[in-house]
This record gives sequence, C-alpha cells and structure tokens, in this order.
Amino acid sequence: DMQIAGYDDALAKAIAQELQRQEDHVELIASENYASPRVLEAQGSVLTNKYAEGYPGKRYYGGCEYVDIAEKLAIERVKQLFGADYANVQPHSGSSANIAVYMALLQPGDTVLGMSLAHGGHLTHGAKVNFSGKSYHAVQYGVDENGLIDYDEVQRLATEHKPKMVVAGFSAYSQVVDWARMADIAKSVGAYFFVDMAHVAGLVAAGLYPNPVPHADVVTSTTHKTLRGPRGGIILAKANEELEKKFQSLVFPGTQGGPLMHVIAAKAVAFKEALEPGFKDYQAQVVRNAQAMAKTIMGRGYKVVSGGTQNHLMLIDLIGRDVSGKDAEAALGAAHITVNKNSVPNDPRSPFVTSGLRIGTPAVTTRGYKEAECVALANWICDVLDAPADQAVIARVREAVTAQCRALPVYG
Ligand code: PLP
Repeated sequence: DMQIAGYDDALAKAIAQELQRQEDHVELIASENYASPRVLEAQGSVLTNKYAEGYPGKRYYGGCEYVDIAEKLAIERVKQLFGADYANVQPHSGSSANIAVYMALLQPGDTVLGMSLAHGGHLTHGAKVNFSGKSYHAVQYGVDENGLIDYDEVQRLATEHKPKMVVAGFSAYSQVVDWARMADIAKSVGAYFFVDMAHVAGLVAAGLYPNPVPHADVVTSTTHKTLRGPRGGIILAKANEELEKKFQSLVFPGTQGGPLMHVIAAKAVAFKEALEPGFKDYQAQVVRNAQAMAKTIMGRGYKVVSGGTQNHLMLIDLIGRDVSGKDAEAALGAAHITVNKNSVPNDPRSPFVTSGLRIGTPAVTTRGYKEAECVALANWICDVLDAPADQAVIARVREAVTAQCRALPVYG
C-alpha cells in the first residue's frame, strides 16, 4: 500500500480537510481557482522525477525525450493562446518570471516605474520589501480619486525619473488598463515596457480583456489564477531575437535550475483547456458574475473602488466604517466565505488591518455559480458586513453558503 493515508495520517488528514474546505467554503480570493482533474493528474505524474536543465533539444541531462514533448506542447499552445512569437514556460512562479525579466533588462540600481502595492500593484512591481524595490530604484504610480490609473501622472513620473523599464499590470484593479497608452509612455522616455498580466490572463486568452502582447517588450503571467492551470509562471514576447536570448538565459541558468517538468506538463493541459471554445464561455461568466456582485454590493450602500468592475475582481472600500478589512475577513471566514483583506487607495489603516476587501469570481464560476448564486452571495456578504459581530447572522449565512456549495460541488 503506497498511499499517504495509513502511512502519514497527520498529513493525510490535513489534505483531506483542505479538500473538504475547498468544497464547503465559498472561494472569493481573486487570485485563486480550481484546477481541473486533468491538470492535477499531470502535476501528480512521474514527470516530477526528471531533471531537464536546459531547453527542449538542448538539455544538460539524458533521457529528456518525453519531457521535451511536454514542454514543446506547452510552448506551442501558450504562443497560440496569446498570439506570442516567444514563450518560456519554465518559471516556477509569477515572481520567478518577473525576477528573470528584471535581470534580463536591467542592471541593479536602474530606475523602474511600476504600480504601487497600496494602489493595486504587485510586490514585484517595485515594493520596498521585495527584490524589485531593494535592487532597483523603484518609482511608483497609483490611481486617482476615482480609483482609476492616472495616465497623465504616469507620464509625468516617467518624464521626471526616466525609468529604464515601465511595469503595468496589477493584483487589485478592477478596470481595463490602456496598454497602448502605457506603451507610449514607456516609448516616450526610451524605457522597456513590461506587462505582468497575471490576474487577467484567462480573460485575455478568451479575448475578453485587451491582449498586452502586441504592445509590450515582454509579458509575464502566473498560470493559476483566471487561467486555471497549475501554480506557475510564463514569459511571453513578440519576435525579438536579442531579448529572447536574454529571457532564455535569465530563466536558466540565470535564476533557476531544473524546470518542474510535472508542472510544465500541467501547464500544457491547462493551455489546451484554455484553447477550447468553452473557456471563453467560462471567462464571460466570470465577468458577468463579478459585475452582478459589484452591482448588488453597491446597491446595499457599500463603496466599490472605481465604481464597479470590468474584470474578475473588485475592491470593497470600508474607509470610514467601523469594520476593518481584517475584521471583515474574519467574520466572513466564520460564515465560510473566503476573501482577503486588502488595502484600498489612501487607506488610513495599516496593511495588516486595511480598510478593504478584495473579491473575485474565477473560483465560484468554475464550480458553476451564475448571476443568481452571485447575487445571493453578495447579499449574504453585506449581511455580515452590516453586523460583523452578530453570531446569529454569521450562523445563518454559513448555513446558506454551505447549502449553496453542496449544490455545486467542485470535484464532485
Ligand atoms: N504578478 C501579479 C500581478 C500577481 O498578482 C501575482 C500573485 O500574487 C504575482 C505576480 C506573483 O505570482 P506568484 O505568487 O506565483 O509568485
């Protein structure tokens, strides 16, 4: 018997409990999704045993003929999915992909202009606590009083600071970024233009969000958010031999060793799934669900940053309310609704407390939620936010959420 259960019961129990949590709690963390059983099958395969430093056809180890097939399938599919001429599918994560891009295009101390974490950017876009803010001179842009990217301000900062690279993309922004405008700003100061489309990659693949690939010198993404693959990263670009060489060598040997061939195989599966017609229907439902939730939440008197959403996520603004993001996250968690606290623009509370909640619909849409389920859910969220200390409300919502989850199981 080679199963974990019966051999390592403490671990087996934790895994079983996590599966039960995923089934019985409603998942609204905007960066999460449920990978398909096929993706899980590839990721749990014997490809994990194989060392394959290098690239298909140019490996530093023998016995790579079959993992080469898997990597080539992943590369060809992801290029097709995003209309890219170049793809590297080896980055272990989104952050790893971004490290390779910074090291390929910049020298330590160079200036980068990215969106601040506090206004919706990612850590790797120049945050002080991250390599991108430690090794580079990071200048940060944000959103205006309406919660929208202030392109005039981005241009002003670019002209003043002359960055060597402009970074666009976000972890918490619910509108459409004007990639062309950002590209023009980068071009006006001779900077590289780098887009991190991690959050919206699935929407981009489905043609429901503008594709940054034609506009950018390089695009990275994670593969596990709206794209619904295994945890991992990718780098994409249009044809440019000089830059391709840099990206190839900065992933391996520059910043990584052996690629995770089981994860690359799982990426290949996910890209095939994303090329299916049904993926577009899924992503369209993700957006409709987010818009239905935003409308309901605003109808209940809560402010949503930027006044709504054009993608898969929204930020509820709790500035001026007694309930903090931290308290709201805990109260909703007790009702089996999983969200994350999130700073909102000009947040008076600390990043550990915050005055916001980030909500996203990729995961619930995968399990089959439509607008009706999302409107009900949004109302329950508001019931809890209205009375975060009321245990009777939390118990009632938990019961309703559990019934909703059981009606639409994730893995059956
Ligand atoms: N880039 C963006 C925009 C993200 O939102 C994230 C994930 O949080 C990342 C990069 C980092 O990805 P990972 O967590 O795989 O390192």
